[in-house]
Amino acid sequence: MASSADETRSLIETVREFVKQEVLPVANALEHEDEYPQEILDKMAELGFFGLTIPVEYGGVGLSKVAYASVVEELCTGWMSLAGAINSHLIVGEILYRFGTEEQRKQFLPSMAAGEVRGALGLSEAEAGSDVASLRTRAVRSNDGYALTGSKLWVTNGRRCRVLLVAAKTDPQAEPAHKGISLFVALPGAGYSVARDHEKLGYKGVETSEVVLDSHYVDAGALVGGEEGAGFAQVMAGLELGRLNVAARAVGVARAAYEAAFEYAQERETFGKPIAQHQTIQNMLADMAINLKAARLLTRDAAEALDRGERADLEAGMAKLFASETAAENSLSAMRIHGGFGFTKDFPVERYYRDAPLMLIGEGTNEIQRLVVASKLLKGQQP
Ligand SMILES: Cc1cc2nc3c(=O)[nH]c(=O)nc-3n(C[C@H](O)[C@H](O)[C@H](O)COP(=O)(O)OP(=O)(O)OC[C@H]3O[C@@H](n4cnc5c(N)ncnc54)[C@H](O)[C@@H]3O)c2cc1C
Repeated sequence: MASSADETRSLIETVREFVKQEVLPVANALEHEDEYPQEILDKMAELGFFGLTIPVEYGGVGLSKVAYASVVEELCTGWMSLAGAINSHLIVGEILYRFGTEEQRKQFLPSMAAGEVRGALGLSEAEAGSDVASLRTRAVRSNDGYALTGSKLWVTNGRRCRVLLVAAKTDPQAEPAHKGISLFVALPGAGYSVARDHEKLGYKGVETSEVVLDSHYVDAGALVGGEEGAGFAQVMAGLELGRLNVAARAVGVARAAYEAAFEYAQERETFGKPIAQHQTIQNMLADMAINLKAARLLTRDAAEALDRGERADLEAGMAKLFASETAAENSLSAMRIHGGFGFTKDFPVERYYRDAPLMLIGEGTNEIQRLVVASKLLKGQQP
């Protein structure tokens, strides 16, 4: 576990080197081909990426959330999709660790931490994205277990996972509706199929899939924590880690865009001098750097709250919102600074520009983050 500042620094150095050697040389090609980065992910598994936030006692690295955010940022200066593959996986790990039974922890966490088994989160549906409580997947008691039936959209890792955490209604009549939701661990088998992969603007390479459950049988031991009706609270707590990941991913993309623009602005000359000498370009670079730094500080603030063991809806919501808006703005500014070349596949800025919008949407849209932040403020929490 990287607990001291020195250990964290050395870990970040390792990740930086990994990105330089293993990711940057192939990221553009794999992304443009929409090819699954099997080799890179295998190496990430060897390095412990799939256990970053899983506690040491269950075979993970047990990283602090502050160090985790720095690792994710660093990784995403190379390729954002890679941090997407570990995000859903680690949200599942977090939920199983915090709310699972000891048997569930022992059964799943060590193989997940080793990267032998991939986790995925099946929450969203066609009619239930922001409005999670309206989900329709049903869990009906059957023999000693449950039969799960429904269709989950947007499942990152859905095609590759061995552990799918499914949110389903055990009590569709519950009032309020979210109290009827329970979480189950589904394992690929009878009644479990991947219907399709979504075709995406960016965030390529790692598939996002529709998973269909048709009377998929799970035994009673698959109910997370052995408690019906607790699924909504469990998943919302897990999504705090997800929002931290998305914020840190956005910081990584915002930084990659800034660094590409900064370098290009020194090299490209117009009217007899590098474009970095034109004040308009300087203004853009300054704004990109200021917003990047603010996004990183907000992300760190959210990570520190999580490390203190606090709920961090306000902090994680602010960080996710601000960092993702910054990634979107910085990637557009980087494209402007690259002029016509920014609009081609010769430079990676077009990739940043296509990757950034995912962070505006994933883990709760920014419109929803504003609602969360405002509700916390109205309840008396201080910014
Ligand atoms: C690439 C990708 C990967 C994903 N991975 C996963 C995954 O692994 N697992 C998973 O479960 N889900 C995943 N998702 C789903 C994601 O979490 C949802 O897309 C997101 O929560 C938004 O839901 P929606 O798409 O249904 O949009 P909607 O909820 O239909 O929202 C549409 C618009 O309305 C706005 N809106 C909705 N309600 C309100 C309101 N009350 N006030 C103001 N505005 C509102 C939204 O902000 C948005 O602008 C993924 C999505 C994408 C695109």
